[in-house]
Amino acid sequence: MTAARATGTKTKTPGNRLDDARGRLSAERVAAAARIAALERDIATIVESAKGGATDDEHDAEGATIAFERAQAMALLEETRTQVEALDTALARVDTGSYGVCESCGQDIASERLAARPSATLCITCASRRR
Ligand SMILES: [Zn+2]
Repeated sequence: MTAARATGTKTKTPGNRLDDARGRLSAERVAAAARIAALERDIATIVESAKGGATDDEHDAEGATIAFERAQAMALLEETRTQVEALDTALARVDTGSYGVCESCGQDIASERLAARPSATLCITCASRRR
């Protein structure tokens, strides 16, 4: 039985890069979750004030403003939720070690791109090709 057999074979992972990425992704996720909470509060407030307001008459200018504000907040909420999903996916990819690798061509995603967009799953070439 040779005890030292399994060591030394799988130590070539770029640990620092992934740890950095995990930290950044986690921080972004926390920030996004906070934005979601704030937006949900905003929407609740808007809905509440709409109820308090006189009518939901379509001809009421106030009602239209409230509807618009609510629609905007909802769109922003949806967008932020999508961001959280993307960050979760990226974090899962950190765990499996596939983070920073293009999903399409398998090449490394440039670190500048990951710095600007930590949840990117495609390299610049593949991302621009998809448009
Ligand atoms: Zn690619």
